[in-house]
Amino acid sequence: MQCKCGSEATSQKAIKSKLKAKIEFYQCGSCTRVSSAVLFIQDVEVATDPRSRTLFDELTGESAASLLDEVRREQELSKFELFANGELF
Ligand SMILES: [Zn+2]
Repeated sequence: MQCKCGSEATSQKAIKSKLKAKIEFYQCGSCTRVSSAVLFIQDVEVATDPRSRTLFDELTGESAASLLDEVRREQELSKFELFANGELF
């Protein structure tokens, strides 16, 4: 991936193993700009750039659990909406 400055940005990741959290992002080798950061908790995508970086920095066991909860609830909800809008009824 190419950085806005024109240099090559390489894929990086940081892990907080105790929290089963991982952030994947691109960092430029020249200007160190970070982009496209995606936060995963237990391998579930919970947030994208730029929210993901702050969340990862400030992550606690509690916030990790609530983020994961939030995403799972949304998934349940969208499944429900699919049923409601579909031809299954
Ligand atoms: Zn750059």
